[in-house]
Amino acid sequence: MVDTGADVLVVGAGIVGTACALALQSEGLQVALLDATQPGGGVTAAGMGHLVALDESEQELDLCLLSLRLWQEFMDEHPGIGEVSRCGTLWVAENEQQLAAAQQRAARLSARGWQAEAVSGDRLPRLEPALRRGLAGGVRVGGDSVVYPPAVAHFLAQELVRRGGRLECGRRVVALHAGGLTLADGGRRSAPQIVLATGVDIAQLLPEVGVFGRKGHLAITDRYPGSLQHQVVGMDYGQAAVSADALAVAANVQPRPSGQWLIGSCRQDGQTDGALDPRALSAVLQAAIRLLPALGGMRIIRAWAGMRPASSDGQPLLGPHPGRAGIWLAAGHEGLGVTTAFASARLLADQMLGRNSEIDRNPYLPGRLPALRNPIYA
Ligand SMILES: Cc1cc2nc3c(=O)[nH]c(=O)nc-3n(C[C@H](O)[C@H](O)[C@H](O)COP(=O)(O)OP(=O)(O)OC[C@H]3O[C@@H](n4cnc5c(N)ncnc54)[C@H](O)[C@@H]3O)c2cc1C
Repeated sequence: MVDTGADVLVVGAGIVGTACALALQSEGLQVALLDATQPGGGVTAAGMGHLVALDESEQELDLCLLSLRLWQEFMDEHPGIGEVSRCGTLWVAENEQQLAAAQQRAARLSARGWQAEAVSGDRLPRLEPALRRGLAGGVRVGGDSVVYPPAVAHFLAQELVRRGGRLECGRRVVALHAGGLTLADGGRRSAPQIVLATGVDIAQLLPEVGVFGRKGHLAITDRYPGSLQHQVVGMDYGQAAVSADALAVAANVQPRPSGQWLIGSCRQDGQTDGALDPRALSAVLQAAIRLLPALGGMRIIRAWAGMRPASSDGQPLLGPHPGRAGIWLAAGHEGLGVTTAFASARLLADQMLGRNSEIDRNPYLPGRLPALRNPIYA
């Protein structure tokens, strides 16, 4: 076993692992970050990078708002990193029921100090001329923004090294032991604490964690600069689980700084590979065109699918594994891992350093899941 001299080994250099590694190093711990490929090469490179205050529950909003505040600090400290666009989100309601939900969202977010205003149907075209006419209204969330996540993960990994941490790329972990791990090349590393931030692949190392892939399709257009001002999302967008063969689709269209439109998104469970499914892609495009008809005349230059790392109860797992001493989890962020990466890192660091957190961390403790408390894994 090679003693790395590290206090903590972080496995997985996606947006979550890099944020955790840098947060721990910044707290004075000595960190080594290992990845099977390279920073930002996992699902972090396959998503949309929408930094969004989601409020499907109070606890979700707490995590988002803490993380968005930390993102703001990051952006202020490192201007020019991550292709940041402060475009805000325009949630669009197509009917009265969605409009009522939009108005509630506007009230809930502004009550928490997050810039949000309800928008009437008449006003929508002035805010976003590309929208179809006759929509019911919506909510404009001025505080939300957009980043390019792999660039941020790459930067965080470099920053880790700059602050004295260690980065090992091309190192696949194949087994965990008390106080250490084994690599695919037979090498071993030891450290008192190990953080697993391996996204959807965490199931290969710890099947009991129960994280699985929730598939989503995306497409990107050619460049049409200035034609979209906000990230436009249908009010029917949510993180709800879907049955194995079902397809949940909602329009979600993002203006890239390049002038391209990044189009999502859908959710499919029970899928084991990342292959493009023409039925799903077509449904995603149709939903987007229904809100933004001009898209029908645009050229799509690439389409792909990614697997959101979903936990069995839809919440991330942040904290110690209850049955394996020295193993910590930072996984299961589903469709919000970019948004919540910094808060996840903060909650993890708070626990490792034995201090209180700004928000309630109980909803995220791995020990909440009965499958992890099963003594068979202890
Ligand atoms: C279609 C789609 C749209 C999305 N849109 C958004 C969005 O708009 N906003 C948002 O906040 N989130 C979004 N997400 C979710 C977000 O992308 C993920 O939650 C987030 O990227 C998860 O990051 P991660 O670091 O946990 O995982 P990953 O990025 O997958 O990183 C895991 C890393 O671990 C490494 N690894 C795996 N196994 C091993 C091993 N055995 N040994 C060593 N290394 C290993 C991998 O190489 C990888 O680099 C979207 C996701 C999808 C699929």
